[in-house]
Amino acid sequence: MVQTERDEQRPAILVVDDIAANRYAIKRLLTYIDADIIEAESGHEALALTLRNHNLAMILLDVQMPIMDGYEVAEMLRAERQTKHIPIIFITAVHRDESHVLKGYTSGAIDYITKPVQPEILVAKISLFMELWRLRYGLEREVRARINLEDKNRYMADHDLLTDLPNRRRLFQEIERATSRADREKKEFALLFIDLDGFKSINDSLGHKTGDQVLITIAHRLERLIRKSDTLARFGGDEFVMLLTDIDDSNQLTGRIEKILSAVKKTINIEPEEIELSASIGICIYPDQIDDPAKLLDYSDIAMYKAKQAGKNTFRFFSEEMDAAAHKRIHVEKHLRHAMENNELTVHYQPVVKVANGDPVGVEALLRWNNPELGSVPPDYFIPIAESTGLIHSIGAWVFEESITQLAVVKNELDLKLTVAVNASTLQFKNSIWHQIVRDAIMKKRIDAKDLEIEITESLLLDDSKEMTHQLLVIKELGVSLSVDDFGTGYSSLSYLKRCPVQTVKIDRSFIMGIPNSKEDMVLVRAIIAMAHGLEMEVIAEGIETEEQWEFLKKENCDFAQGYYFSKPLPIDSLKSWLRK
Ligand code: C2E
Ligand code: MG
Ligand code: MG
Repeated sequence: MVQTERDEQRPAILVVDDIAANRYAIKRLLTYIDADIIEAESGHEALALTLRNHNLAMILLDVQMPIMDGYEVAEMLRAERQTKHIPIIFITAVHRDESHVLKGYTSGAIDYITKPVQPEILVAKISLFMELWRLRYGLEREVRARINLEDKNRYMADHDLLTDLPNRRRLFQEIERATSRADREKKEFALLFIDLDGFKSINDSLGHKTGDQVLITIAHRLERLIRKSDTLARFGGDEFVMLLTDIDDSNQLTGRIEKILSAVKKTINIEPEEIELSASIGICIYPDQIDDPAKLLDYSDIAMYKAKQAGKNTFRFFSEEMDAAAHKRIHVEKHLRHAMENNELTVHYQPVVKVANGDPVGVEALLRWNNPELGSVPPDYFIPIAESTGLIHSIGAWVFEESITQLAVVKNELDLKLTVAVNASTLQFKNSIWHQIVRDAIMKKRIDAKDLEIEITESLLLDDSKEMTHQLLVIKELGVSLSVDDFGTGYSSLSYLKRCPVQTVKIDRSFIMGIPNSKEDMVLVRAIIAMAHGLEMEVIAEGIETEEQWEFLKKENCDFAQGYYFSKPLPIDSLKSWLRK
């Protein structure tokens, strides 16, 4: 039975007498006392009721009863932890002599009333006990409430409110505990950094509510995979950390990690959506791989990043090389922050030729970074760093302005028709003022927007958010054309191209490399050209290095080509000489 707050507050008085008439008489006297009256006709029944009833404020106990008299009942009540505090008033017909009083008090009685009971005395005594009971009950309740509140506060301080999992703070404590245990017992433990792949796009496309549901579902699934001595914590956003103790068997550990991957991979049903997710996991073993517990999280994070780079839905153990790579990255990042102000950035230009006649029609602007200490750093390496640090916005804007400025000069000097294509990261399009940057640069340099092209990546095509579509449209309305770079390497298909205002597709170099040896690549190149033409788009082939590749593209009616076969990317002055020839 569920006891309500009200039931709990109402005290009860137990009347014990073997004679029903006596109980009845006492009950009548207690009519105006605010309490429930319970009756027992024997010592045994009284004991049973006492144990069962938690609101007993007092007991009125007849002394003379068959089998078990009042004194025996009192003694037994005093022996029980639960009942020893309940006040008892003995009701006795026996005349009140010294020995009786003594016997009563040693068995724990509080008071005596003799029969025939005088109503005023009984009511006065009982009222007093009731008052005492209420005070005590109130105090107890207050104490309970405070304990509950403290428990709750403590819980909230180290738990994540969404998933109910331990939070970061608690995780740090658990790591500390696991470390000292491992040191003491000469054991190892593993720290798993689990990051969901593609969670952000779920949040963006299906909304935060669904995103939250997904996180809760994943938390439950992961929880089922840990043992009592392990910890699963939510580290932040879509990151979870698992601390696995007792991992003597490395095969078993790998098995457990694979279970985590497949638990995340299972379809999540949140009506009406069916959501597919995966996870990337980085693992660090203490003390085998590092003996500095403070670095455990950083290192498993680095390993997780490697798992992402390896294509996601997989795991990587931390290694020394990763540590070196991470250090190098931090070092490069430090220098990159000053690259612009120190004039270390330049732009090189790679000619693009028309397949039909081999004439140069444009150039692609490619960023170069030369640092006195690091030397020449390839863009494939530093662009991702610029992206993750946010530097890409200022660098991207600079590349754009620099390229169109130099292009204007070349066109004037050589009196040529020439377009320039500038690469832009998806992040630049996420900056709401990107189209303004483009427009301002065009106005300032008095450039014909038709001579400009911006190369976007395939991943941008997958983003059909309103802001992104708007930004693309505004840029297109300026007269700038858009092309999709490295086409074929991402996850998009030509159908994505249809809904974006894109005019040109650049076939990735990896497919061109397969000509003429890979039949498959050749079929793909042919198909991309045919389908793009079907959508009234033009095609540029990247990375032409050989005569054979060039011949193949001519045969397939590719529109434009670019590659070392014609020219490497050149500094502006070399470009001018190249163009003059
Ligand atoms: P991408 O836009 O696909 O540029 C083509 C890359 O292929 C360039 O590498 C170019 O030098 C190289 N390449 C061209 N023809 C050949 C060839 O025949 N053989 C070989 N082996 N390679 C060829 P690069 O300059 O190292 O740039 C790498 C990537 O860095 C670019 O790929 C682009 O994604 C990115 N990037 C370069 N500059 C910028 C920039 O200003 N902004 C952004 N966001 N990304 C840039
Ligand atoms: Mg490009
Ligand atoms: Mg490319």
